[in-house]
Amino acid sequence: MIKVRDSVNTAAGDAAISLLNGVFGYPAFRGQQAAIVESVGAGGDALVLMPTGGGKSLCYQIPALLRAGTGVVVSPLIALMHDQVAALRELGIAAAYLNSSLSAEDARAVEQDFLAGRLKLLYVAPERLLTPRFLDLLARVEPALFAIDEAHCVSQWGHDFRPEYLGLNVLHERFPGVPRIALTATADALTRQEIIDRLDLGAARIFVASFDRPNIRYTIVEKADSRRQLLAFLAEHRGEAGIVYCGTRRRVEETAEGLAAEGLDALPYHAGLDNETRRRHQDRFLREDGVVMVATIAFGMGIDKPDVRFVAHLDLPRSIEGYYQETGRAGRDGLPAEAWMAWGLQDVATQRRFIEEAESDEAHKRVAHAKLDALLGLAECAGCRRQVLLAYFGETSPPCGNCDNCLEPPTLWDATEAARKALSAVYRTGQRYGAGHVIDVLLGKATDKVTQRGHERLTVFGVGAELDDRHWRSVLRQLVVKGWLAVDHGAYGALKLTEAARPVLKGEVPVLLREPARRQGKAKRTALPAAGPDAALFEALRAWRRRVAEAKGVPAYVILHDATLREIAARRPDSLDALADISGVGARKLEAYGADLLQVIGGN
Ligand code: ADP
Ligand code: ZN
Repeated sequence: MIKVRDSVNTAAGDAAISLLNGVFGYPAFRGQQAAIVESVGAGGDALVLMPTGGGKSLCYQIPALLRAGTGVVVSPLIALMHDQVAALRELGIAAAYLNSSLSAEDARAVEQDFLAGRLKLLYVAPERLLTPRFLDLLARVEPALFAIDEAHCVSQWGHDFRPEYLGLNVLHERFPGVPRIALTATADALTRQEIIDRLDLGAARIFVASFDRPNIRYTIVEKADSRRQLLAFLAEHRGEAGIVYCGTRRRVEETAEGLAAEGLDALPYHAGLDNETRRRHQDRFLREDGVVMVATIAFGMGIDKPDVRFVAHLDLPRSIEGYYQETGRAGRDGLPAEAWMAWGLQDVATQRRFIEEAESDEAHKRVAHAKLDALLGLAECAGCRRQVLLAYFGETSPPCGNCDNCLEPPTLWDATEAARKALSAVYRTGQRYGAGHVIDVLLGKATDKVTQRGHERLTVFGVGAELDDRHWRSVLRQLVVKGWLAVDHGAYGALKLTEAARPVLKGEVPVLLREPARRQGKAKRTALPAAGPDAALFEALRAWRRRVAEAKGVPAYVILHDATLREIAARRPDSLDALADISGVGARKLEAYGADLLQVIGGN
């Protein structure tokens, strides 16, 4: 036999593959999973940087199964542990968790199982792990490995900082022989170094995956009537689960009410709601099919739901990092998903003001403004969005073919004259007004505000009648993004000229701008079948799954993923053998649900 370079072509590799096939029901490892599994399985330390949905869990679950003893998983997200453990048990893996949600009695029972070696995986909250009681338990067994999930929580500069994570280097000191694997979806080099330093991972192998999420389609539109635009977008996602992010609690409330009034299954979520309501809403989102969560960014950390089909932004996030992280919650299962955002100059004014109010330190302000600028560059770019996004994280890529600009390349037009007119209108009106007033002057509209200020007597009054309001808005936005106009945060979004605008105003610089989109991000979806026999069977399978999940009190995806149901619907397996070939159907699921599934397939 020819020796292939595949690093898993070893006895341990064979064992790993057969666990992947037999227990998880997946045909092959993805990306670097095989190399990571082999390395950790052989007792090495690893640091894994992989985007959301990349498949980090298998990277510690399979090595834990390969090695003797229990894999101990540190996770900061108590709500999540429950579902992860439920999913593992569905696969027939002995798993449990220890956190503050357990009664003392239940916790003791888990500890007994752990000591007796009856568990393959044990999820532990970091504060629990660091107790003398638990460290003592650890000393009495030989753990298979330590997995430190959400490892960026050690970073004191990140939003997710957890002080208890700083204590986790005790694992290395006390149990130097036990391999550790730290995992995160946070990409930047600074955080990476902090994880290495604070967790003592200097000798670990580092695995960095591409941060591209090819199944996510990016679309960014100009805000016109955002409620109507959102409804049009949601109309393409009927019955699917998704998140709509809003900038403020009030907008969350209003939007959720508006969507509910339109008959959508929409729920609000923000930090101002009481714990019980938040928990209930999160639970419905996770457990039911097709709930739309309207939320501030308080919602999302640790949302492990694989079948979130879209993430919409009704307001501008603060940075590309924020945008990437929030949109990244869509399409963990690898099926087509959409990231859609509507933005306008008012968002820029709001964000700038927010930065000025929230940051006291000048250096921090500068960084925050620069981050917003980078996001605006993405919002107004005429080329591939994914290229801009990935370039921000230091990756290069060809045009993706799966963003609005690739699918419908924007037309560029010579806006040299228009730019001059716009800049000059800003200048002549005294650099004290927002886009609306400047546009009124350009269009020659004698509004009260215009006549009160005598702006109808200016030479620029009415010089812009050749373009309409929407077109001028698009011009002003692009002038802002190009750095020729600044949005003054101190003066409620007043536009001001920058130094760089001078040659443009004089007509010395040719200006090419993109035409405003003719329609609102209509790039058609392709991959998810909406009708036909597949769709009917898929719906029947979903209905069956909902009943099973409800009876067991677990989220639907814990039973079977959408990706698996779709493959079943498309291939219509007619025997248990054929069913076993479907990705996501392992031995245990075949045994538990095979007969039922064949019956659903037969009846549809
Ligand atoms: P992450 O933790 O990196 O966000 P997960 O571990 O939750 O990602 O995996 C994302 C999804 O991909 C899950 O639905 C998981 O079951 C699936 N998955 C992971 N690895 C594979 C694989 N090798 N083949 C098929 N599906 C996989
Ligand atoms: Zn693209």
